[in-house]
Amino acid sequence: MVLPDSVDVYTSSSLQAAKARFNLHYRQTIRVTGTLHSASSCDFLPFEHKGETYWIPEPLVLQMSEAPSSGIDLPIGLENVAKGHPVSPDYRPSDLVPIPPQYCLNDLPHKLRREAMEACIQMLQNARKAALDIRIVSSYRTFTNQRYLYMKAIEKHGLGQNGVAKPGHSQHQLGTAIDVIGRDLQVLFKEAFGETPEGKWLIKNTANYGFTIPYQKENVNQTGYKYEPWHLRYVGKP
Ligand SMILES: [Zn+2]
Repeated sequence: MVLPDSVDVYTSSSLQAAKARFNLHYRQTIRVTGTLHSASSCDFLPFEHKGETYWIPEPLVLQMSEAPSSGIDLPIGLENVAKGHPVSPDYRPSDLVPIPPQYCLNDLPHKLRREAMEACIQMLQNARKAALDIRIVSSYRTFTNQRYLYMKAIEKHGLGQNGVAKPGHSQHQLGTAIDVIGRDLQVLFKEAFGETPEGKWLIKNTANYGFTIPYQKENVNQTGYKYEPWHLRYVGKP
């Protein structure tokens, strides 16, 4: 599946190559005919069109999920969502519940799966007992929300960006992931959040509530994402 409204197609694996006379459009599917080719700007995938081989930037293509993942609730903690392992675009857990607004930074309606929400509230309440005010800035996202954020990130940082997951590949679509911030809003979505009192408290305490901080400095090469001390995923009570 192609992700942007309209995608340029190239005659070889480079953004400098001549463009094809046709474009691809959102949700159009292609059959990839060869292996990934790394170029300086990004990776490219080959596909066939009317007997000719053309190339498309890999960040603009979504691999379709082989596992049926709509109409079922994936088991918490065992959801396999990562680069190369998408969930279906219409995956939506059936047990999403709203997060009370006093734990959120903005007025947007935030949702999580019930079990994750209950653990999250317990964690944030205990942080308040330690005089720390941790607020949720992002939670459950639909495939469509994620596609919007992903295309914005590419527009801003280019095809090589590694801050926002492809739609279908985000832990936020599972309804078990949150992004948080403390009192200092200057460090919103910044590594420096990990150095704040709230960030340090989370590093020490998340595991007690069944949460992990999956994107660490040490595993950037494995996950394909940068260090995100503000991104927490619920994997179940220890
Ligand atoms: Zn996140």
